[in-house]
Amino acid sequence: MARRSPLSAPPAATPIVDRVDRSTRSTRSPAAIVKQLRVAPGATLDLSKIATDATLGFHKESAEAELAETKLRIDLLQQRLFAEQRRSVLLVLQAMDAAGKDGTIRHILSGLNPAGVQVTGFKAPGGPEAQHDYLWRVHAACPAKGELGVFNRSHYEDVLVVRVKGFVPAKQWKRRYRHIREFERMLTDEGTTVVKCFLHVSKDEQADRLRERLDDPEKRWKFRKGDLDDRALWKDYMAAFEEAIHETSTKDAPWFVVPADRNWVRNLAVAKILLHTLERLDPEIPEPEEGLEGIQIV
Ligand code: ADP
Repeated sequence: MARRSPLSAPPAATPIVDRVDRSTRSTRSPAAIVKQLRVAPGATLDLSKIATDATLGFHKESAEAELAETKLRIDLLQQRLFAEQRRSVLLVLQAMDAAGKDGTIRHILSGLNPAGVQVTGFKAPGGPEAQHDYLWRVHAACPAKGELGVFNRSHYEDVLVVRVKGFVPAKQWKRRYRHIREFERMLTDEGTTVVKCFLHVSKDEQADRLRERLDDPEKRWKFRKGDLDDRALWKDYMAAFEEAIHETSTKDAPWFVVPADRNWVRNLAVAKILLHTLERLDPEIPEPEEGLEGIQIV
């Protein structure tokens, strides 16, 4: 029998699970992790009572393989999301300094198709950013259809650092919870799935990491004296995170509190949350053009 060209016999999309080595199957399903870490709408939070060093049932020995497997599946679904060009995903990462936002992004996104991924970091607003409302720069950075957008800090800074440092009056930042809920609702309605992760690190672990930054010439550039000012305001920041998460964890744009003292747990947990989000979207490969049967490439 003559071999058909791949174009003349388009294969049905291979179920993702069939492409994965079963010997490294997950010990915890994405759905179980999501259920465990998601903050229910309206829930009141006491971050001091939520463990920062939990392992969530993952095992360190198999964590690398499990992350690789999870990423393989994220990669396939991200390619489908990109091909579909109909919807997008926004992953928001917020945390205290040195909790590992950068490391999470590096570990989870490496290997994905860069054309479909957009990472945006938000620093203190300057120039035109400071001349507009606080959501202006955020909206402009939201992922286009087909894209996975990742925010390293976000509009939440406008109810966190802005509140803790008193940059605007309380009356002003308090109104922002409603703006944010409605802004995220609009994004959801228009085809962007929003998920938000708070990387929950302990104050002691942060001290170790900041010391390491100071001591390691390769990492010293990351150390800012201002990090110590924020560290001194730890309690105020925790109160600001607790209220922000309570006010803005919604059914469609939930918050997840991710234990972040162990990098391998943090990476796996965020990867599973992202995978779960993509699995629920279940993006479809577009229909091929009609009349491709029998085409011979010569
Ligand atoms: P990162 O810590 O994210 O790696 P930087 O060390 O440059 O990057 O810190 C960015 C700084 O910008 C943080 O201190 C953060 O609080 C601040 N920032 C971000 N958004 C805002 C905002 N809307 N208003 C004030 N400060 C902000």
